[in-house]
Amino acid sequence: MIITKELAQKWFTVFAEKVIQDKEQLSEYDRIIGDGDHGMNMARGAQQLLSSWQETPPVHLADVFKQAAMKWISGVGGASGPLYGTAFFEMAKAIGTKEELQHEELVNVIKAGFDGIRKRGKSEVGQKTMLDVWAPAIESLEEKQLTTEILETTLTKVTALKATKGRASFLGERSINEVDPGAASSKLFFEALLEAGDLNGD
Ligand SMILES: [Mg+2]
Repeated sequence: MIITKELAQKWFTVFAEKVIQDKEQLSEYDRIIGDGDHGMNMARGAQQLLSSWQETPPVHLADVFKQAAMKWISGVGGASGPLYGTAFFEMAKAIGTKEELQHEELVNVIKAGFDGIRKRGKSEVGQKTMLDVWAPAIESLEEKQLTTEILETTLTKVTALKATKGRASFLGERSINEVDPGAASSKLFFEALLEAGDLNGD
């Protein structure tokens, strides 16, 4: 399948709606292993993005990602603002002037987002962060086998990890079996992608 501006906008719209809907739950996860603001912060960015589209709809495919990056970087705060903002910005850069993405190009764009998070967060896979959802999601997407079940299983695996990065790492062993809020919101990001279109088809 081919990613167009319309499909990308649907992806981010579904993501924003999911974030707003799960706001309380995301903040609850963050109250346990962080500072309790993840849901509020993410929902603020999501709301701002949806509102901005009423006035300034994206013109090009990359605009969808650029506009999301701006909202997350300027309006979200916390740790998640810069991390998601960087991811979206790197994705916009990887898209450049393309107006359509083939499946393989989409995978590369998401990989660029992943690298952005990794560098900005100075983190690696296995530390119980967003990356632990992004990495397996990218792998499954590459094989055209990403499903909501895989995302569920992935989040369960991340939940079993001990946090060694960020605020949650201060909890040490007590972070085991608690849901990482960034991993939970990342799961919503990929669920939204699945809902926006049939990525495993042609
Ligand atoms: Mg927080």
